[in-house]
Amino acid sequence: MAARKAWTQDEAKLNSGMKFCAVIVAAGSGQRAGPGGPKQWRTLHGKPIARWSLEALLAAGAGEVVVVTAQADQDQARAAFSGLAGWSLATGGATRDESVVSGLNALRASDDAVVLVHDAARPLVESSHVESLLAALEDADGALPALPVTDTLKELSAESGGVTTADRSRYWRAQTPQAFRLGALKAAYAAWPSGQAPTDDAAVMEKAGGRIVLTAGDSRLIKLTYPEDFAMAELMAGGARAIRVGQGFDAHRFGPGQSVWLCGVEIPHSRGLVGHSDADAGLHALTDALLGAIGEGDIGDHFPPTDPQWRGVASSVFLLHAVDLITARGGRLVNVDVTLICERPKIKPHREAMRQRLAELLGLPRDRVSVKATTTEAMGFTGREEGLAAQAIAAVEAPI
Ligand code: MG
Repeated sequence: MAARKAWTQDEAKLNSGMKFCAVIVAAGSGQRAGPGGPKQWRTLHGKPIARWSLEALLAAGAGEVVVVTAQADQDQARAAFSGLAGWSLATGGATRDESVVSGLNALRASDDAVVLVHDAARPLVESSHVESLLAALEDADGALPALPVTDTLKELSAESGGVTTADRSRYWRAQTPQAFRLGALKAAYAAWPSGQAPTDDAAVMEKAGGRIVLTAGDSRLIKLTYPEDFAMAELMAGGARAIRVGQGFDAHRFGPGQSVWLCGVEIPHSRGLVGHSDADAGLHALTDALLGAIGEGDIGDHFPPTDPQWRGVASSVFLLHAVDLITARGGRLVNVDVTLICERPKIKPHREAMRQRLAELLGLPRDRVSVKATTTEAMGFTGREEGLAAQAIAAVEAPI
C-alpha cells in the first residue's frame, strides 16, 4: 500500500503543475565517438539522439526545455526537433559549464523552479528517473542518479608509478539528468572559480555548499562516448538491427607521374594514375562498397566527376562522406576488405600502412580492416599494366 501511495503522490505532483524546466546540453563535438559528426545528431533507432532526451523530458512533464547547441548546429537541431513543442535553442560556449550557464540564462522559469540539467548523449532517460529526482530534491539542494562502481578501482601514482586499490564502496558513477532549483544553480555557477571546468553540475552545487543526494542510477542512462556505445544503446532502445553488405569495383588508367595513391597511401612508382580526383581506386571501390551497403547509390551520385570542386581532391573525402551517411542512420561499420589488382607497383610492402590509414579513416580497429593484392597473371588490362583495379566489400550493422 505504501508503494501505491507514493506513486499516487508523485503522479499528483506531476499532474498538479509542480512542473520542472530543463536544459539539455548538446553542444559537444564528441571527439571520442569516431567519425560521423557530433553524436547528438546521429540517430538511434532511426531518431536523432538529442530528440530522445527532449521527447522524454517533455513526456515527463517539462514545461520548458532549452537545448544548448553549437551555433553551427542550430539548423540541424530545428530539423531534429520538428513537430515538438515546448523547446527553444541557446548557443553553447567553449566548455560544458559555459553551455550550461547559457542554457540556464535562456530559461524563462522563476528562480524557485526545479531545473533538470541533462547531457544529450544520454538518450534513454525515462519519466521514472525524473520522478525519483523530483522526489529526492524535496529535501536537498541537488539530486542526481548514480551507479555503484562494480569494477575494482585502482589508483596509479603519477609520482612513483605504484598501484594501490581504492575502496570502491565509497565511489559512485554520476549520471544525468541532475536536478536543482534554478536560482540556486545559477548562483552556484556564478560563484564557481573561473578557469576550472566542472564535469557535472552537482560538483558546482557541492562547491557552493549545497547538499546533494543520489537517486538510483540506471545502466540505460549510458553516456554514448565510444563507437561501440551506440550499438549497445540500439539494443537497449529495442531496435532491430541487421548486417548489410556492399561491394565496390573501380579501375584507373596509368599515366605520367611519379607516384600513385592507393587506400590513402602515396606509393612511389614510375607512373601515376589518371583521374578526376587523386585516382585512388582502392578508396573509390571501398566508398562504393559502403554506399552499397546502405543503398545510397554510388560515388558518382555524391561527387559528380563533372563538378570542378572535386578535381584533385583526396579521396578520403569521399570515404568519410560514406561513413557519415552510415553513422547518420545509426549504422556502424563491422569490417572492410579491399583487393588491389595490379602487376606493379608491388603492394605488399605498403599493405600495413594502407590498413593503418583505412583504420584511422574508418574509426575501426586494424583487425577489421583488410587490404589484399593480386595480379592477373599478365592477362588483361591490369596484366598489360594499362591501369589497375580495386575491389572492396564492406559489412555494416544498422537498424532495419
Ligand atoms: Mg575511381
